[in-house]
Amino acid sequence: MLEVRGVDARYGDAQALWGVAIDVADGEMVCIVGPNGAGKTTLVHTIAGLHPCAAGTITIGGVDIARLPGHRVGDHGVATVPEGRRVFGHMTVRDNLLLGAYRRRARSRYRQTEAEVYQLFPRLQERARQPAGSLSGGEQQMLAIGRALMARPRLLLLDEPSLGLAPVILDEVFHAIAVIAATGVGVLLVEQDVERAMSACSRGYLLLEGRIAAAGTTAQLREDADVRQRVLGG
Ligand code: ATP
Repeated sequence: MLEVRGVDARYGDAQALWGVAIDVADGEMVCIVGPNGAGKTTLVHTIAGLHPCAAGTITIGGVDIARLPGHRVGDHGVATVPEGRRVFGHMTVRDNLLLGAYRRRARSRYRQTEAEVYQLFPRLQERARQPAGSLSGGEQQMLAIGRALMARPRLLLLDEPSLGLAPVILDEVFHAIAVIAATGVGVLLVEQDVERAMSACSRGYLLLEGRIAAAGTTAQLREDADVRQRVLGG
C-alpha cells in the first residue's frame, strides 16, 4: 500500500536520505531501526509531507503523495503519531481526539471511531473530560495514537512511541498497535527500543547514514551483521 522509491531528502546542502526504498502492506507492521542521526525521523517526516522530498516517489494505493504538503497527505489516509506525542495539554482528552477527525473522510463517522478508540484505550474514556496535560506520559501516548486513529487512516506512522515510557505501559501501547494493524491499517514504526520493535513487527529495515543498509523479516534482521553491530550492541 505504501511504496517509497528512490527517496532523497536534504537539510540545505546536507543530504539526510539517499535513494530510500521501503514498502508497507495493509495490516502489516514494519519497523525502521538505526543509530542516532541515521535519518529515521527525516524519513517519517518526508512520508508525512512535513519535510520536502528532494527526489523519488512515495505512493499510497498507487497515488504519488511525495510532493503534497502535510495537510494534503492526510487526505490519502496517512496519520502520524509524532515523537514527543504533542497533545494539547489545556484541551480535554475528548477535544484532542475530535481534532483528529476534522477531515471529510473521518468527520461523518467520528462517533463510531471515537467508540472504537475508547474500546482500544478504556482509560481515555474514563478521562475524556480531563485536560490532556493531566494524563501520565503513557496515557498521552495512547491519546496521540487515538487522535491519529480518529482520521481513519490506512497508514499509521509512529515516531519513537516508547520514548520515556515505563515498561508496563509500553506493553499496553504495543498491544494496542498490534490490534490496530490487525484491523488492516499499515503501521510504520520508528523505534529506539530495537528489541521491542523487532518483537512487534514482522519486517524491518536498517537505516545507516541515510541509506537502507539491510531489509528483511525481523528474524533475518536479527542475524544481520550490521544490525547486530550497529543497533543491537554487538
Ligand atoms: P534520532 O534517533 O537521533 O532522532 P534519526 O535517525 O531520527 O536520529 P534524523 O533526526 O532524521 O535521524 O537526522 C538525520 C540527519 O539529518 C542527521 O545527520 C541530523 O544531524 C540531520 N538533521 C536532522 N534535522 C536537521 C535540521 N533541522 N537541520 C539540519 N540537519 C538536520
